[in-house]
Amino acid sequence: MSARNEGCVNNMELVRDLAALREKVDTIRQQGKEIGFVPTMGFLHEGHLSLIRTARAQNAFVVVSIFVNPLQFGAGEDYEEYPRDLEQDSLLAGEAGCDLIFYPAVRNFYPPGYATFVEVQGSLTEGLCGAARPGHFRGVTTVLVKLFNLVTPHRTYFGQKDAQQCLVVKKMLKDLNYNIQFNIMPTVREPDGLAMSSRNKYLTPPQRANAPVLYQSLQQVEVLIRNGERDGEAVKDTMRSNIASVPGTEIDYIEIMDVDELKPISRLAGSFLIALAVRFGSTRLIDNIIMEV
Ligand code: AMP
Repeated sequence: MSARNEGCVNNMELVRDLAALREKVDTIRQQGKEIGFVPTMGFLHEGHLSLIRTARAQNAFVVVSIFVNPLQFGAGEDYEEYPRDLEQDSLLAGEAGCDLIFYPAVRNFYPPGYATFVEVQGSLTEGLCGAARPGHFRGVTTVLVKLFNLVTPHRTYFGQKDAQQCLVVKKMLKDLNYNIQFNIMPTVREPDGLAMSSRNKYLTPPQRANAPVLYQSLQQVEVLIRNGERDGEAVKDTMRSNIASVPGTEIDYIEIMDVDELKPISRLAGSFLIALAVRFGSTRLIDNIIMEV
């Protein structure tokens, strides 16, 4: 362990310092090892762990970042309350095959006077969560550019649960000529279908009991579409009435978009994303499926 590293758990290093991270990944690269990188905000669950396990299988060295990025939270959102548990995360990430956790301090990552931001413009960031959370994707792409520059990964792993984020990051990597292989992994769900999320922790027991309606509504329209439904409005209406019938839900959006540009489509054809965001009280959950007809 180098003097600047903060710690080591079961051979997994915990690094907080930016210069120490650089030193470590430089050494790894000099050894000719490939680096797999999983960026997260921590409070790890099986969704994150599936990404880490895949990174483990495909790379000689696996870095996981844990950073609750203030830039991607809007005013009044849950930045302060966002769950944090570095100790538990270290155990879980280590078991899943992580070699190094990078958990920078906000004041070092964005020091006073920090002034550089990266933004993907256009339809990819305008709709869905981009409309509902202004500035969110600018925060995501800014943190990721910095993390990619620091970690210098060969491969990176993201979850389809955040489908719009995947498309935005993929576009950024292409536009900025990054030589990083981008991998999208399937959404990991609870046994009742609810997409795993660190935010599920906020749900009260009755909200948790009702939350599977999100995936149920997606599955219901998947069957309708497989059976020939091609009218996007009819599909959205079915989902809306399904979700609205559950007490305590407030629909933020239900949209059907093409998967290349994320523009709304009304006649279902080709590949498309059916995405939704629904509030249960103050907790906002998202889910999606991608279909091809
Ligand atoms: P987060 O910590 O929420 O920023 O998520 C970090 C990464 O884990 C992102 O690429 C997410 O898409 C991914 N992820 C979160 N939840 C899931 C899930 N249920 N299944 C698969 N990937 C997920």
